[in-house]
Amino acid sequence: AFTEGFTDGWIRRYAASAAATEAELSALDQQVGDGDFGANLVAGLQAAVRLLGELDGPGAASAAGPLDAAAAAFLDEVGGTSGPLFGLLFQEMAVAVGSAGDGMYVGALAVGIGNGLSAIQRVGEAAVGDKTLVDALVPACTALASYPSTADPVEALSHAARAAWEGVANTTRLTARSGRASYVGDRAAGVPDPGAVGIGLLFSSAEATVT
Ligand code: ADP
Ligand code: MG
Ligand code: MG
Repeated sequence: AFTEGFTDGWIRRYAASAAATEAELSALDQQVGDGDFGANLVAGLQAAVRLLGELDGPGAASAAGPLDAAAAAFLDEVGGTSGPLFGLLFQEMAVAVGSAGDGMYVGALAVGIGNGLSAIQRVGEAAVGDKTLVDALVPACTALASYPSTADPVEALSHAARAAWEGVANTTRLTARSGRASYVGDRAAGVPDPGAVGIGLLFSSAEATVT
């Protein structure tokens, strides 16, 4: 199982890593979109960290509480395409981890991320190869789901992070078929998708938190 406080530490670490990468993320979105992805991701995560500080009572001790806080932050406070999509991902993780009950396991996280991916694809209709965050989320999700529920989280998350970054690398050579990047066509080839990089950072933050 994961150590207590994993999800709280994960969100905080992700917020710090997004803040440190904000300029690069926005520069990527400048090349393929409208340049606000870094600001959108950082705004959501800063709002999430503020909510973490307000968590009290049973919510503070549960693994689902911080994921719920992140979901609320992205769904309520972040615009753009990515805000609601990251909100859905955190929301499905919160539901799966919350209903698993007794401590947190790789299996619950895999289910939550799988359901989050389904929700994102239901709303956004992007498939692998469309040069979106789906390109990073699908391989990460597949990697996690290949482990038994009670597997060592260190091993499972390091595999998932590696898979997510391979997905990011794949987006570099793609021309977008969804989102704003599709408007610039071949000009986007050679630039990784910013949302996919955001997913890479999410899994790297998880790996760094659990190690
Ligand atoms: P906006 O285009 O509204 O400014 P953001 O800058 O917040 O959106 O987010 C851009 C990211 O959203 C892209 O890099 C891509 O990963 C992701 N994205 C865009 N459209 C979709 C979609 N249909 N499905 C999944 N992800 C998408
Ligand atoms: Mg944008
Ligand atoms: Mg925008």
